[in-house]
Amino acid sequence: MPLAIVYSRAGQGISAPLVTVEVHLSNGLPSLSIVGLPATAVRESRERVRSAILNAHFDFPVRRITINLAPADLPKEGGRFDLAIAIGILAASGQVPTTGLGTWELLGELALSGALRSVPGTLPAALRCGHAERQLIVPSGNDTEAALADQTAVFAATDLAAVCRHLHGTQTLPRATPPVLPQTASEGLPDLVDVRGQAQARRALEIAASGGHNLLLVGPPGTGKTMLATRMPSLLPALSREQALEVAALRSVAGEPMDPSRWYQPPFRTPHHTASAVALIGGGSSPRPGEVSLSHRGVLFLDELPEFPRRALEVLREPLESGTVSIVRAKQRCSFPARFQLVAAMNPCPCGYSGDAERSCRCASAQLQRYQQRISGPLLDRIDLQVAVPRISPERMIGSEGRGEASSAVAARVAAARSHQLVRGTTNAELSPTALEQYCSLGNAEQHCLRRAAERLRLSSRACHRVLRVARSIADLANDDRVRKHHLQEALSYRMDIAEHSSPI
Ligand SMILES: [Zn+2]
Repeated sequence: MPLAIVYSRAGQGISAPLVTVEVHLSNGLPSLSIVGLPATAVRESRERVRSAILNAHFDFPVRRITINLAPADLPKEGGRFDLAIAIGILAASGQVPTTGLGTWELLGELALSGALRSVPGTLPAALRCGHAERQLIVPSGNDTEAALADQTAVFAATDLAAVCRHLHGTQTLPRATPPVLPQTASEGLPDLVDVRGQAQARRALEIAASGGHNLLLVGPPGTGKTMLATRMPSLLPALSREQALEVAALRSVAGEPMDPSRWYQPPFRTPHHTASAVALIGGGSSPRPGEVSLSHRGVLFLDELPEFPRRALEVLREPLESGTVSIVRAKQRCSFPARFQLVAAMNPCPCGYSGDAERSCRCASAQLQRYQQRISGPLLDRIDLQVAVPRISPERMIGSEGRGEASSAVAARVAAARSHQLVRGTTNAELSPTALEQYCSLGNAEQHCLRRAAERLRLSSRACHRVLRVARSIADLANDDRVRKHHLQEALSYRMDIAEHSSPI
């Protein structure tokens, strides 16, 4: 029959919509045309497919070949349809059986030699393929991540000829097996026991971990801001299976290799301050997730916060508020989840020593002001806990005096505090204004305290809500079902005014 239908999947955000590849052979001048909104890389697939078919020792039909990628209004990107197109041509020309072809979905880019190259986004495709009750063939480079969708039968192929033998039933492809996943999440993570002193910053880290709040660490160079930040993952609860799959799907779409040993660990991303807005937020001609999405369900750590381009920082405001990022391109709009916890670190001034007891600051006041203005008020507003990380005395550095608790002890308290939040259905950082009224209702003394602080610190109503959420986490850590005045006061103490802190003492 001169018509064949093969199934494949496109990439759109982290969904993977079905694409039906229809191949029709007709009489007329030999030609090959692809219709159905193909991008340049898809149009170029005819050259790859032609060479791959010939190099796999099949005949390339000398007919008029029309390939339709349906649905027509869905943009098609990349080389992921190559394998489906090649199999469609071989099936339509009678070189591969058409019976049973409908039970398969095919993904993979072809090299001219007929070898299969890995493509991004195979995990979301494998998940959806399983729901559709079909079986999936992927390039062998993608087998581990595709096999994570353990409800789907996934087969891995190295080249076009092997796929054809499999469809003929002469030689079965190897079934992709899911990787061995670790039992615990915290294995191999940096431990809080390495951090000396810094009681206030440690406390802020614990509160931030409990409620999923954003945290800013301010202090001179070398006081351990980065060390503290990198300990955050060891305090966070392990991801659930659904969350881990979501995180893996985002990595898969970004084309990042999957590390099964960190399966249950919340992501911890540390983009450099030279990162562009697109690298941070996502984008590109075929939209890829950025750092905000790759840190979904985990931590985005921005060291040297004021060194980031202001535009890059401003685009963080949308995901910080909504937990998603929308990327609009000429032909499509897609969105990626981006519910991350922001941890940032900065020096108090350009030279780094403003407010330091031992070294004096050399910055002019105009310089200082410019430095602080790089971080806008609205962004600072969204950082719930702002805490100083001062220099500590050499005695505490060396002796056993400054030694603090290990991560496991703190993580146990964080887990207990989270268990209260799970009953309410969400972490404190994500409590809606209605839920806030319900779970953080204040007595008269507390209301008065908050009102006075809001006036004194000139807090916006958004900042007040954030203070309440932090106070709720402090109360959860204390196993108290009510938010009391001292919880509120502690939450307010982390609304440090950076300008105030960094003015020379
Ligand atoms: Zn300075």
